[in-house]
Amino acid sequence: MFSSGKSVTVIGGGLAGCEAAWQIAQLNVPVLLYEMRPKVMTPAHKTDKLAELVCSNSLRSDLIDKPAGLLKEEMRRLGSLIIRCADQAALPGGGALTVDREKFAQLVTEAIENHPLIKVVREMVAKIPESGPVVIATGPLTHDLLANEIRQLIGAEFLYFYDAVSPIVDAETIDYSKCFWGARYRDEPAYLNCPMTEEEYRRFWEELISAERHEPHEFEKAIFFEGCLPIEEMAKRGYLTLVYGPLRPTGLIDPRTQKQPFAVVQLRPENAEMTMFNLVGFQTSLKWSEQKRVFRLIPGLENAEFLRYGYIHRNTYINSPAALKPTYQFKRRDDLFFAGQLTGVEGYIESAASGLVAGINAARYVRGEPLLVFPAETAIGALAHYITTANPKHFAPMNINFGLLPPLERKVRPKELRYRLMAARSLEKLEKFIDQHKLHRGEGKYEGQL
Ligand SMILES: Cc1cc2nc3c(=O)[nH]c(=O)nc-3n(C[C@H](O)[C@H](O)[C@H](O)COP(=O)(O)OP(=O)(O)OC[C@H]3O[C@@H](n4cnc5c(N)ncnc54)[C@H](O)[C@@H]3O)c2cc1C
Repeated sequence: MFSSGKSVTVIGGGLAGCEAAWQIAQLNVPVLLYEMRPKVMTPAHKTDKLAELVCSNSLRSDLIDKPAGLLKEEMRRLGSLIIRCADQAALPGGGALTVDREKFAQLVTEAIENHPLIKVVREMVAKIPESGPVVIATGPLTHDLLANEIRQLIGAEFLYFYDAVSPIVDAETIDYSKCFWGARYRDEPAYLNCPMTEEEYRRFWEELISAERHEPHEFEKAIFFEGCLPIEEMAKRGYLTLVYGPLRPTGLIDPRTQKQPFAVVQLRPENAEMTMFNLVGFQTSLKWSEQKRVFRLIPGLENAEFLRYGYIHRNTYINSPAALKPTYQFKRRDDLFFAGQLTGVEGYIESAASGLVAGINAARYVRGEPLLVFPAETAIGALAHYITTANPKHFAPMNINFGLLPPLERKVRPKELRYRLMAARSLEKLEKFIDQHKLHRGEGKYEGQL
């Protein structure tokens, strides 16, 4: 039965909140889980079920040499409730883990509601509880009253209400012979510049303005900020708008021609290891296939692999590099944890993965045990590492991808082999970590196969 011992309050019964609650309870610590639905609904959720998938029913790849597949395997080995229920609700989906969404949400709801140490309270939480531990996992559509509280706690400049995200490419797939390093007017290798001739620019512009766009949800349409206009929207304003905007060549001299190019696309390193580059100013709502087709017209990116595509949608998230520790604790209050999309991880499984770590740590906090930072070589650890060490000035939510993991000691090609080796390294590190900290062990799908 629910005990009166020291409990953890989890706010939000989505992917992250349910995983956190489960992990805490599995460590014998009681949980109070608050979920506002069905009393108060979000603009995207349609049911009263916990862990409702708001859009696609795909949890992406389940192959071990794909980043989403590796993350799932790690979560299986750590006894994840979300992945266990997804496996049980799986539909035939080729290499992807696609689920029957009703069955999935039903399984999670039953597991949570039937756990003797979890009490589900169907109430909207408007204030951050003063006594902890508390895990806030209220997601991208956090209720406004609580969002206001979070904003007051961490500072208005650290909470965002929309996302304007530019694509990110794999550094190994850039053709450096066509680019040059440099910053505007400064002799600093801050950006990798992709110069364009007028002919190249014209072709790019023509394809950009006629490319197919993603249709936004009704509630997302209202949110349109001049400061984060999609690049295709800007391009439609005129042939030269981009040349005077994000593609302006001013102050950039191509060392090979000693001239200023007609236009320049700037790529900014996304992490200190420089394994990923962000296309500066390329927030976009083009379909993913169109982004790949059109952005590969940029000189140097002809064969670029996209680690993340650009998008624009409503999203509440905190600037985690400024606010959180890699244990998912708030820097200024040790008994306050954040988890899920609110922390700047992006996607269903990433949200659940952050809930898993926050949950384990909240339980360890109650039990007086040292808190855990997962190894950066694991996908689960790499996510926490990224959201807490990225540049706070340009922080934007991120899916799991191999660019987040430290590179291998030597260069390995082809990339399929490289990813397999990275996956093997991750699982080896994780196994040791599980033993070292005596964590619960779940059954993996790929055990003994790498
Ligand atoms: C419209 C939309 C579509 C998306 N589509 C996809 C997709 O197709 N694939 C993908 O991988 N990711 C998608 N995402 C991104 C993200 O992965 C999901 O939003 C994911 O559900 C995030 O998990 P979470 O646990 O952080 O939040 P959620 O799953 O949203 O859970 C948060 C929960 O907290 C509750 N809540 C909010 N405020 C309060 C409060 N004050 N008190 C109590 N309860 C509260 C909510 O009702 C909700 O149940 C989408 C996001 C949005 C907004």
